Amino acid sequence: MRILTSYQPPHVERAGFDPDLSGEERTLVENCHRFARDVLRPHGKALDRLGAAEVIAKDSPLWTVYAEYQKLGLDFASLDELEPAVAARLESLIVEELAWGDAGLTLSLGVAGFPLLVAQAAGNQELVDLAKERIGCWPVTQPDHGSDMVDSYGVERHPGTVPKPGNVVARFSGGEIVIRGQTSAWVSNGSIAQIAVLCCPADYGQGVVRPDGIRNYAVVIVPLDLQGVSRGKPLEKLGQITLPQGEIFFDDVRVPKRFAICEGESGAPGFLSVLSVAGVFMSQTFTGLARAAFEHALAYAHERRQGGAPLIEHQLVRWRLGEMYKRIEAARAMTRRAAHYLRAAPAPHPNVSSMSKAFVTQTAFDIANEGLQMFAGNGLTKEYPLEKLVRDARSALIEDGENYLLTLRLGSVLSDLYKKGWAND
Ligand SMILES: Cc1cc2nc3c(=O)[nH]c(=O)nc-3n(C[C@H](O)[C@H](O)[C@H](O)COP(=O)(O)OP(=O)(O)OC[C@H]3O[C@@H](n4cnc5c(N)ncnc54)[C@H](O)[C@@H]3O)c2cc1C
Repeated sequence: MRILTSYQPPHVERAGFDPDLSGEERTLVENCHRFARDVLRPHGKALDRLGAAEVIAKDSPLWTVYAEYQKLGLDFASLDELEPAVAARLESLIVEELAWGDAGLTLSLGVAGFPLLVAQAAGNQELVDLAKERIGCWPVTQPDHGSDMVDSYGVERHPGTVPKPGNVVARFSGGEIVIRGQTSAWVSNGSIAQIAVLCCPADYGQGVVRPDGIRNYAVVIVPLDLQGVSRGKPLEKLGQITLPQGEIFFDDVRVPKRFAICEGESGAPGFLSVLSVAGVFMSQTFTGLARAAFEHALAYAHERRQGGAPLIEHQLVRWRLGEMYKRIEAARAMTRRAAHYLRAAPAPHPNVSSMSKAFVTQTAFDIANEGLQMFAGNGLTKEYPLEKLVRDARSALIEDGENYLLTLRLGSVLSDLYKKGWAND
C-alpha cells in the first residue's frame, strides 16, 4: 500500500489514468495527437459534408489525409517485434489518438494496410511487395450474406438449414484461383482500394458447402487492377462518411494459387484471424471516438451558462461527466485486454476481440449520445461536433459484425467452454 502524505490531483495522460507511460510512448502519442488535431479532425469535418462520390474525387481532402499519414511513418507490423503487452498498449495508444481526430478516417487508413499486414504475417515476400504502398480493403460480406459470413462456422444457423455457397466464390483449379461474384456495398475502402485481402467461400473441387454443412473458405490477396474487377457506386449512408465504401464485382478474376494466404482447412481460421484483428482495431478506434465526445462535453460544460452559472457548477452536470468518463476507462481497459489477449494468448479467439468490439462500440455510442445531450439543442446542429460523432458511433454497432450477433456468439462460446469443464466445478 502507498500512503499519501498530501493531496494532489491524480496523474493523468491524454489517454487517461495510465500510471507509467514511457518517454517514447508519450512522444508517439503527441505526434499522433498533432496529426489527429491538425489533419484528421479538420479534414474529417470537411469530408463529412460531401457526397460519397465527392469524398473519393481526385481533388478531395481525403488524398491530403493519405499523403500526410505517410509522413507520420507508422509501421504497425513492426509492433510484432515487441513484447505482446508492450505492443498491445502502444498500438492501442496510437489508434485511440488517431480516432480522437476522426474515426472513419482512422478506419480507412487502418483497413488500407490490412492486405500488407496479412502478407507480412504470412511471411510471403511476393505478396508483401504486391501490397506495399497500395490502398487495401477487406471484402467479406455479400449482398445476401452479412451475419452469415461473419459467422463462418455457422454457429447461429437455424437448425436443419444448410448454407448457400455465397455471392462471391473463389474456385481453385490447377495453379490458379478464379473469383466470381459481388461483395456487399459495405466494403470499407471498396470504392478506392487497389488491393484486397478477400475472405470468401471457396470451392476446392467438390463444391463450397461440405457434407457437414460448413462452408469452405479461403483468404486470398487480390490486386484490384486485374481484368474482370469493377466497382459499384460509392455508398451514401448514415455516419462514417469519411470512410469510403462500395461493392466490388469479380467477373472470373484469375489470380495464381500462390496468392492464397489460407486455403483448405486453414481457410476459415485464417479469415477469423483477420476478424480478430479487426475487432481489436474497432475497439481502439471507438475508445478514441468516445474520448473525443467526452472532451467536447467537458469543454462545453465550462463554457455554457444556464441557471446563473456555467453548466459545470451544477452538481448533476459533474455527475454526468463522471459517469461518462468512468465508462471510457472501462472501454479502454477492455480494449487493451483484448489487444493483449490477441497477441499473447496460447489460443486467441475471435469472440474475445468481438466481445470487446461490441462493448466498446456500444459504450462509444452511449457516450456520444450523452455528449450530445450536454450540448442539447446545439448538439443537434451541424455547427457543433456531436451529431457527427453520434452518427459515426451508430454505424459501429453494425460494422464488422452486428453487436447482438457478436454477443450471442460469445454466449455460445461460453457455453462450449462450460461443457468442456470451464467454470463448472
Ligand atoms: C460502417 C460499416 C463498415 C463495414 N465494413 C465492412 C468491410 O470492410 N468489409 C465487409 O465485408 N463488410 C463490412 N461491413 C458489413 C458488416 O460486416 C455487416 O453489415 C454486418 O456483418 C451485418 O450484416 P448485415 O448488414 O447484412 O445484416 P444481417 O446479417 O442481414 O442482419 C439483420 C438483422 O438480423 C439479425 N440476425 C442476423 N442473423 C441472425 C441469427 N442467426 N439469429 C438472430 N438474429 C440474426 C441481426 O442481429 C440484425 O439485426 C461494414 C458495415 C458497416 C456498417
